[in-house]
Amino acid sequence: MPRPDRPELVDSFGRIATDLRVSLTDRCNLRCTYCMPAEGLDWQPDDEVLNHVELLRLVRIAVELLGVTDIRLTGGEPMLRPGLEDLVAEIVGLNPRPRLSMTTNGIGLAKRAPKLVAAGLDRINVSLDTVDPETFKTITRRDRLPHVLAGMAAARDAGLTPVKVNAVLMRGLNDHEAVPLLRFCLAEGYHLRFIEQMPLDAQHGWNRADMITADEILGLLKTEFELSPYPSARGGAPAERWLVDGGPGDVGIIASVTRPFCADCERTRLTADGSVRSCLFSNDETDLRALLRSGAEDEVIADAWRRTMWDKLAGHEINEAGFAQPIRPMSAIGG
Ligand code: SAM
Ligand code: SF4
Repeated sequence: MPRPDRPELVDSFGRIATDLRVSLTDRCNLRCTYCMPAEGLDWQPDDEVLNHVELLRLVRIAVELLGVTDIRLTGGEPMLRPGLEDLVAEIVGLNPRPRLSMTTNGIGLAKRAPKLVAAGLDRINVSLDTVDPETFKTITRRDRLPHVLAGMAAARDAGLTPVKVNAVLMRGLNDHEAVPLLRFCLAEGYHLRFIEQMPLDAQHGWNRADMITADEILGLLKTEFELSPYPSARGGAPAERWLVDGGPGDVGIIASVTRPFCADCERTRLTADGSVRSCLFSNDETDLRALLRSGAEDEVIADAWRRTMWDKLAGHEINEAGFAQPIRPMSAIGG
């Protein structure tokens, strides 16, 4: 089927990508077991990572030429990127102004939240899989829970609201913590989202039997809370939501594996080294950095991005027999 001549990032199944995930770096200061090995990874060399001007140019092309309206900064750990506040200010200065959020492990946020707000950041997702310091140390291989909690509180106090919390449960590690995590988030006014563990770890250690499924998470929560369907429609949002004990608090589950939402996906992804991907699980990607560095015009780059998205597959195929985990891990794609 030929691609229709329209500017947006449309694919052959009729979806339009308006939500851009930008990875600012593949580096990280934690070592979450479901993401990377204890020794870390071979980080992308500096000269392969998009510099500030290159990154901003690609984001501008996405906003001005391709109809992207929502941008999420991620990584690796996005707060390790030098010049982050400047980048935030320049992205929100684009016309039309995109909505801008960031996914972070929260380390350093206690100090930087007000500066990020002043620069124009709208919202934040902080990853927190446990409220127990020992479990935190086991999962992330670092003793930093107090820093993360302080970062979340600072984000809330600075107005980066609602603060959303991403949690991954793992069998035998923190699956007993679903209820305490939700209690903590309700008390603090954070919006908790559980994410099913996906086969995206650098070690390729994902095992379906160890994954805590959405049904299991619901079962765990229902031992303590009454959950009722969230009143408003889900739209393209990946999380299915429930009101907790009649509201207003809620909880969400992103069931990427057992209840895939690919048919409603609105995402496009840019890696820190300048490749565009149509899906977390893509096996193909398009190197926009090479185009940038060879002097290509904006429209040539935009067209390459459009072609990549046109070829987006119907779904991620994790549940198909021939599924192959992508070569890049989550931390190098941008989660
Ligand atoms: N470092 C930041 C953080 O942890 O929030 C941003 C990058 S991290 C890759 C983005 C999100 O992906 C985090 O919420 C993390 O829990 C989640 N994540 C990482 N590996 C995952 C996996 N194998 N399955 C499901 N979620 C994963
Ligand atoms: Fe770092 Fe985020 Fe991966 Fe944890 S999930 S190792 S914080 S990139």
